[in-house]
Amino acid sequence: MSYRIGFIGAGNMSAAILGGMVKQGVAPDRIIASNRSTPKLEALAGEFGIQTTTDNHQAAGADVVVLSVKPQMMKDVCLDLAPHLDHKPTIVTVAAGIPMASYEQWLGRDHAIVRCMPNTPSLVGKGASGLFANAQVTDAQRQRVESMMQAVGITAWVEQEALIDAVIAVAGSAPAYFFLMMEAMIDQGEAMGLDRATARALTLQTAAGAAELAATADVPVDELRRRVMSPGGTTEQAVFSFEADDIRAIVARAMTRCANRAAEMA
Ligand code: NAD
Repeated sequence: MSYRIGFIGAGNMSAAILGGMVKQGVAPDRIIASNRSTPKLEALAGEFGIQTTTDNHQAAGADVVVLSVKPQMMKDVCLDLAPHLDHKPTIVTVAAGIPMASYEQWLGRDHAIVRCMPNTPSLVGKGASGLFANAQVTDAQRQRVESMMQAVGITAWVEQEALIDAVIAVAGSAPAYFFLMMEAMIDQGEAMGLDRATARALTLQTAAGAAELAATADVPVDELRRRVMSPGGTTEQAVFSFEADDIRAIVARAMTRCANRAAEMA
């Protein structure tokens, strides 16, 4: 890879992505990050050996420019960068809730822009990102963005912007659903007499193990579930209880509310 990547905003998400890239062997001198203040930049330079600057225009001189400031800062950042993008970099934004049309208005319609919706497991290299490209993005640019985001997990392209809302429901917000399930299981494990640390360790390992098994098995997840459910056994009782409480409808309602909120915010 010989192109240069500039990160505008050097917070958690930028640190996760650029850190993942460096760990995957991308030369740190191809990466530059800008931030308003210097402490985060010094930490990133120290840990990963990347270049840093407090001048967003300098970072925006790269071939791929990742916009990674908070959504409420995005308009000002884009308006300020717009006159400095004549070299037509590939622009990637990781901000939640800002539609493509806003970026095209702030930066200009002739830019190749990718909306990327990552999730927090990206911070540990296990992210799941949805990507949506505007019409200016070429196949080569798609590949660059894809390989960049694959440094922190898996990627999936959607061909309609509205499907980003579904990505948010399935992946962006979804770590919280699993955390909620873990909370409930840890609490109940403790209520059943285990000490909290044991309940936590067993719950987390089971969640990670189930995910790994589902990802590597050659059968679908419903079959894996059935394999744990011996007729007349213990698991069957738990699953019957979930089904009696209509867990599928509960999940569908929650995801619908999530996606509706994403659509409202855009
Ligand atoms: P963060 O607050 O950790 O990082 C933002 C950084 O931008 C800060 O270091 C801040 O100093 C800097 N900044 C603010 N204004 C600036 C400016 N004008 N010029 C340069 N730097 C500026 O936030 P984060 O969690 O890394 O989130 C960044 C983006 O990623 C957000 O838009 C968020 O919606 C998106 N995102 C984050 C996550 C996540 O898990 N953290 C998940 C999905 C999407």
